[in-house]
Amino acid sequence: MTVPIPEHLARYASVVDDFEAFAAALTRPLPQTIAVNSLRIDPERIPELFGSQIELTPVPWCPGAWRLSPLDRPGRLWGFTAGLYTVQEEASLLPARLLAARPGHRVLDLCAAPGNKTAHLALALGNRGTVIANDLKVPRLQALYDLCRRLGLCNISVSGHDGSVYPVDDAQFDRILVDAPCTSEGKAQRGHVRASSARFRTFIQGQQRALLRRAVDLCRPGGRIVYSTCTFAPEENEAVVSEVLETSEGRLRALPAPVTVPGAATGLDAFDGRSYHPDLIHAQRLWPHRTGTGGFFAILLERCDAPTAAQRQPRLQPLPDPAPEHLLADGFERFGIPPSVLDDMQLAATGRSLRLIPRDHAPPAGVRLEAIGLECAQLSGERARLATGGLLTFGSEARRNVIDLDATQLECWRRRQDQTLPPETVTAASAGAVLVRHAGLIQGGGLLRTQADGVMRLESQCPKAWATPALAPAAGP
Ligand code: SAM
Repeated sequence: MTVPIPEHLARYASVVDDFEAFAAALTRPLPQTIAVNSLRIDPERIPELFGSQIELTPVPWCPGAWRLSPLDRPGRLWGFTAGLYTVQEEASLLPARLLAARPGHRVLDLCAAPGNKTAHLALALGNRGTVIANDLKVPRLQALYDLCRRLGLCNISVSGHDGSVYPVDDAQFDRILVDAPCTSEGKAQRGHVRASSARFRTFIQGQQRALLRRAVDLCRPGGRIVYSTCTFAPEENEAVVSEVLETSEGRLRALPAPVTVPGAATGLDAFDGRSYHPDLIHAQRLWPHRTGTGGFFAILLERCDAPTAAQRQPRLQPLPDPAPEHLLADGFERFGIPPSVLDDMQLAATGRSLRLIPRDHAPPAGVRLEAIGLECAQLSGERARLATGGLLTFGSEARRNVIDLDATQLECWRRRQDQTLPPETVTAASAGAVLVRHAGLIQGGGLLRTQADGVMRLESQCPKAWATPALAPAAGP
């Protein structure tokens, strides 16, 4: 049976090896993947903890990631709110793997929102050093703040500039991701079927070219750039990269991919009467019928000119004034958290928020930062109360006032419902703020109160936005 295909994708018939299979793949739901948060948990524990609730198939080209069944809802499991993993479409894992950022690199994500790829870059740096997450649409970056809070990421600063004129000194980043705005044709399986007119493609192509060109200027000689999109359109992929390579005056070349997605095709050498730069052979085209992923394009580029003596040391932005560590003393004392958790960290007060920033974090001069580091506590006068980001980040070091909940008690906490606890659950805790743990992993906070009858009652402090909906009341007789 012939599967109908959206009309605007029919123009790819000449470059897709099996057009029927391509059309059929676009009608199938797209499986999600989860990728482990290596700051929180060993990858081996993920199948042990969640293997009975979601179908986990290792992603062969990405250690610590699993493909799920399309029916699975990993965002509803407690592992999600405890920040044990990120959830994304498989192809989204590719840019960070290609960039292979390492501790010590300075990293820029030029088009970052909503931010999953930024999180993978921040994890690659071991949650230290500097990742700058930039996006033109600042409200879209809210999702990144929530992600950082869940995962405990403190090495990200956020800016909201037009990436094509990013206002910092040139040649200062070791790794840059340009995950460009595009016509999103590769998301057809997620219902994003949009017809892209030739006029719009020309407009977006101009933006993409300008973003990639600026990234080349911002990259230090020897540094690397990944250019990626989630569209099939060669005008937004091969044509953009080709033109930037051709006009780069020998400053840029494409590199063979260090990681390839099984089934991925190489970049096209020509389309619609236009031929492309030979380096496009190193690009990966993810056609859904061949890779089982969404549609995607990615290529690894290297700035290959020699550093010049004239290149200045990039100017940096001073970190905000340090806030005194004793602000956290009460919270640390309550939970027995050793002050050494702050050894290579700095605190900074911004408004009512106490931020945790690695000491080696070095945002560039010239940008207006929307946010820096991770909110670890909320300030009220001279007092600081550990916030969810702080509880999740420091909680694994806590030695007292930690309550271990079983699966049923945890679900009650995640619904933000109060519950009474049997005495044996609360032996290591006194009335007041407590940490909530399950399966040896910190989930967040709570407030323990002693009732008049001596029974202990736990008030949930699961963030409202993360709470699972309360169960409907049981039907009456
Ligand atoms: N990398 C993101 C992630 O993995 O979550 C997805 C990025 S999305 C494909 C493209 C982003 O580019 C959008 O969030 C859009 O707001 C942003 N954008 C569009 N034009 C831009 C520009 N001129 N400068 C910076 N960001 C831009």
